[in-house]
Amino acid sequence: MGVKTVDQIEVKGKAVLMRVDFNVPLENGKITDDRRITQALPTIRNVLDRGGKLILMSHLGRPKGGPEAKYSLRPVAQRLGELLGQDVRFVDDCIGTAVEQAAAQLKDGQVLLLENLRFHKEEEKNDPNFSRQLAKLADVYINDAFGTAHREHASTFGVPQLLAGKPRGIGFLIRKELKFLGEAVSNPQRPFVAILGGAKVSDKINVIERLLEKADSLLIGGAMAYTFFLAQGKKVGGSLVEPDKVDLAKKLLEKAGGKIQLPVDTVIASEMTDTAKTQIVEGNIPDGMEGFDIGPKTVERYKNQIAKAKTIIWNGPMGVFEKKPFAAGTKAVAEAVAAVTDKGAVTIIGGGDSAAAIEQMGLGEKVSHVSTGGGASLEFLENGHFSTLDILQG
Ligand code: AMP
Repeated sequence: MGVKTVDQIEVKGKAVLMRVDFNVPLENGKITDDRRITQALPTIRNVLDRGGKLILMSHLGRPKGGPEAKYSLRPVAQRLGELLGQDVRFVDDCIGTAVEQAAAQLKDGQVLLLENLRFHKEEEKNDPNFSRQLAKLADVYINDAFGTAHREHASTFGVPQLLAGKPRGIGFLIRKELKFLGEAVSNPQRPFVAILGGAKVSDKINVIERLLEKADSLLIGGAMAYTFFLAQGKKVGGSLVEPDKVDLAKKLLEKAGGKIQLPVDTVIASEMTDTAKTQIVEGNIPDGMEGFDIGPKTVERYKNQIAKAKTIIWNGPMGVFEKKPFAAGTKAVAEAVAAVTDKGAVTIIGGGDSAAAIEQMGLGEKVSHVSTGGGASLEFLENGHFSTLDILQG
């Protein structure tokens, strides 16, 4: 790919406009998890150490198109300052005169964080006028926001498009994500086992189809398994299903020729609570009960397959891992994935809830790569590229 990485671009004395993903969780104005900030530090430091004038832009949460104090990036500026050990300037908008003045005052090696891009609804609409106002700040454009790399927004698409004549590239975080996901898709060491779970089949249909072409087997867990159960004519009680996806699930099973593996037993309960009484069933789930996790026999089967794998991609928990009675399947899979990494397999956790689960279990360091973008990694597995990065070529 002819896209430059930040360290291949001259930044000394230049205004470097960098899109980062600082969409951190906040509670009462306090950052509860600063990983999204720490993950951007290598790229940020690279620019500052080489004398760039760094202007950072990000979104945070889902504001309704105007300023909302609870979605302000101000606490992020403070945290970033602590992590960098230097002052991080902050302006309470991302476009306009005050922003242009603050950007113009930056000296080499200084950094400015702009206020939440999504305080302007034009960001998500990729509005040309809004893009022009952002683009005017930049001599150089860098994208290191993997989590939004699958979205054609102003900051990820319109701005770099307008800056076509200027140096543009990606940061180290996106480079790393593309390396792991790209190699897994294009040139996996085999056996290549994909593990898919989570709530809905509909979110992951395209990925299942794509992975059927690439992977040696697909292990299915989470509620999505029950839509496949319906396709096989099994009873699922009150489990979460998508009846309008049953035909599609049937087609996928036919196409898979045995590559798709479904749970052989299920942890069921009448309620999704921390104190629920559970039972294990094989096959049908009785009326009045719901499936909330893969059962112990399924865990053994999946563990065996995982132990033999050389490449693993995992997206979506095996059950309602947030509740103790239904966490065992996800925990066992996480431990098996960590163990096979130790034996030399390349293991990739595709962001979102499975990333949260593996971090919660303290196994984040024991796998090859935990993606920072759930939706982005799924879309990359599907399409193998992002239009927002394609336009950075040349
Ligand atoms: P997703 O965002 O599609 O990866 O789904 C993640 C969510 O699926 C998590 O919050 C899990 O609690 C939930 N989930 C997993 N298995 C089940 C299940 N059997 N029934 C209901 N929800 C589930």
